[in-house]
Amino acid sequence: MSYRSSGYRPGCLRSLLSLLMGAALLIVGIKIGAWKPDILDDTEYTIGRTIADFLDSRPVIAIDAGHGGDDPGASGIMDEAVLTAETAKALYDLLDADGRFQPVLCHEYNTTMTIQERYAVANGKYADLLVCIHANADPDGKGSGFECYPAPPGRKYHKESLAFGEMLVEEFSALGMDIRGENGIRYAYYDDNNEKYIVESSNTLVFDDPSFGMLEKTKAPAILVEQCFITSESDLALIGGQSGTAAAQCYYNAICRYFADELEEPAEQSSNADESEVSPAGETEETDAESEENYQPVELPSGN
Ligand SMILES: [Zn+2]
Repeated sequence: MSYRSSGYRPGCLRSLLSLLMGAALLIVGIKIGAWKPDILDDTEYTIGRTIADFLDSRPVIAIDAGHGGDDPGASGIMDEAVLTAETAKALYDLLDADGRFQPVLCHEYNTTMTIQERYAVANGKYADLLVCIHANADPDGKGSGFECYPAPPGRKYHKESLAFGEMLVEEFSALGMDIRGENGIRYAYYDDNNEKYIVESSNTLVFDDPSFGMLEKTKAPAILVEQCFITSESDLALIGGQSGTAAAQCYYNAICRYFADELEEPAEQSSNADESEVSPAGETEETDAESEENYQPVELPSGN
């Protein structure tokens, strides 16, 4: 039997329908594939953001405690992971009590998470700002002070990241922390051998070498902070000890200043909030910038 002369060819129709359905399934499949949270590349990551998140216009503050889980970070008077987790939680609580922000923790203390997983949290929540909290260590116990690393020159969010970094320097300086380097703001890069090198903020050249992964991959202004030396008793005393509450207050003050134009006055003060007043911009105490050119902060490679 030949179909050539037949005007009605149910087999062909079925084939055509199958082809169309196959094409439709393929398109749907591609779509579904695009929705998967592939945290290992740069695809848009939307899972984790609920409808309620979309309807909430409050700034999203992503807080990344630099270490945790199987990664204790640097060792000192305590493990870096403990201090950064405590500080992150204290900052989270301040922002949550304020009510004008949506704080998000990228990294729970007990959870081992890769850099990719952590910036995926920030991007998944459409962070408006990322703060990565770390601490330096000096085996000799001599190092002290604060430094921070904004997204470097040439990056999309450099200008905003730098502006926030300058506010952080003012807050930590007012707290009494030594400010390291030229002005507490530095840029970090990794060379072809994955060796980290650091330049001061006066070096505004655009480097092709990548900076910290969290700064390069988060789609928002971002900063990595070495808030103190975990090997320095005096540093730890200034930032509020292991709880990091005084450091958290510095971050909180700077965040309020950074978003001042889009924030209303706080709705109410939570009775659980830290008792210390939220100071306005305030005076800053100038400290002599330390030049410790020969000193390289101790930082585990996995940390950044
Ligand atoms: Zn670290």
